[in-house]
Amino acid sequence: MRQLTGTTINVNSDILAKVTTNCSVIRNRSKYVLVKKGLKKKPFGFAAIITDSEEISHKATAVTLDAERLVDFHDGDVVLINPNGEIIFLYEKTSLHNAILATERCNHRCIMCPQPPIAQEKDKTDFNIELISLFDKSTKEVGITGGEPTLIGDNLFKVIKHIQKELPNAAISLLSNGVKFADKSFAMKLAQCRHRDLQIDIPLFSDIAEEHNAVVGAKTFYKTVQGLYNLALFRQKIGLRVVIHKKTYKRLPQFADYIYHNFPFVSQVAFIQMETTGLAKENIADLWIDPYDYNEELRQAVLLLADRGMNPYIYNAQLCVLPEDVRKYAMQSISDWKDIYLPECENCSLKGQCGGFFESNREHHSEHIKPIINDISHDI
Ligand code: SF4
Repeated sequence: MRQLTGTTINVNSDILAKVTTNCSVIRNRSKYVLVKKGLKKKPFGFAAIITDSEEISHKATAVTLDAERLVDFHDGDVVLINPNGEIIFLYEKTSLHNAILATERCNHRCIMCPQPPIAQEKDKTDFNIELISLFDKSTKEVGITGGEPTLIGDNLFKVIKHIQKELPNAAISLLSNGVKFADKSFAMKLAQCRHRDLQIDIPLFSDIAEEHNAVVGAKTFYKTVQGLYNLALFRQKIGLRVVIHKKTYKRLPQFADYIYHNFPFVSQVAFIQMETTGLAKENIADLWIDPYDYNEELRQAVLLLADRGMNPYIYNAQLCVLPEDVRKYAMQSISDWKDIYLPECENCSLKGQCGGFFESNREHHSEHIKPIINDISHDI
């Protein structure tokens, strides 16, 4: 999540509030943080003030920031301000990648996890319910992530139903390892939420149980497979996610064939370039392979699924590295706040269409990045 740090005045506990740049907001001011340049007086009723003015009244609850940072705030964003002066953007109105962090606990420990799990935490459900209520009503997509979201048990359904009520236009993407859905009654409860547009995105890393288990750090392959079948039984929309690295790339074609034969009901299969942060960074020597070097395996897997009428996608990839005949399957999948381009990309004619790089991949990226100049020869 995007984060800024300023200097606090009278911020003694966490403040969760919606951003406004409009002093004339009248109703529910206590739910808003006012972001304004040059404020001196304390406007009445706001949860807090964010300003560049050092002269702001010492009676205000405020954070002061450099003036050029104030343009980072947009009406409708939702921020969490803490006593250390950190301002964390929990929702950005213009982003398509907003997500609820259901829990930071997990029953897996994937060797390439970008956000390593923690062992214990205070339940986040009430906080998340309050957060969802602050989202803009026109929100089109919300992710539910973790950790492993199903570890919050039935509170997961409470969160889903609250999204359904507060954000009727929002599709939900639930990122889960699928293990908990091996329990048929739990899968049934998800179906009973009757959300009109919910997809469960489940990572699976191999057609061989031991290889999958070695990646996730638990003996759960068959539970995930059972979870997939239970979700299919209740006609849930399922996506599969395959993160590609040194431990998973070799069998991509065989794995694609296995997916076709065993999970023909999934609505999409996403092949994902690894984000090199968290545990992926710690284990980089065992995991890193230049994406260019697995192009052939990726190409075979993608085309095998596409030729058989399934929906393969490629996430987090750079178009200049991919073979031309699979570029059309690449999606702009990197969250806006993490997304960068390299100096080499400056004159590339595909820059607007290419997904770019994770900020964390500055150090580890393909050595085959090469701008494509006036590339009009193919339809991507
Ligand atoms: S040069 Fe940069 S923008 Fe162009 S295709 Fe490659 S990674 Fe994408």
